[in-house]
Amino acid sequence: MSDKGKNQKSNKIKGYLDMPIGGLILEAGNSVEYKTGEWRTKDFYINKDECSNCLLCFIYCPENCVRLTKNEVSEIDLDYCKGCGICAEECPKNAIEVRLK
Ligand code: SF4
Ligand code: SF4
Repeated sequence: MSDKGKNQKSNKIKGYLDMPIGGLILEAGNSVEYKTGEWRTKDFYINKDECSNCLLCFIYCPENCVRLTKNEVSEIDLDYCKGCGICAEECPKNAIEVRLK
């Protein structure tokens, strides 16, 4: 099967008969499988030249998608960022850049 065929299969939208009764989530800890970043209308990036590493964006992000490397903010994981803008609002250095998708 070609790659195109695989993508078409994985993108198939489930119907109500494919879902568990009541929409229950049956496997614990599966949220990582759902890349909710697709909901976003804007992209968010950390400008490391302006960042003071205060970690406020890390603390405030409700999706826990500000990544740290060796105790410093390194990037925003756009696979899970929903684009709420709280990080940019709270950043005291205006170090978070917002770009329309
Ligand atoms: S926009 Fe919202 S979800 Fe995305 S990194 Fe900032 S606080 Fe987190
Ligand atoms: S809130 Fe702003 S200054 Fe503080 S760590 Fe995040 S990007 Fe850097």
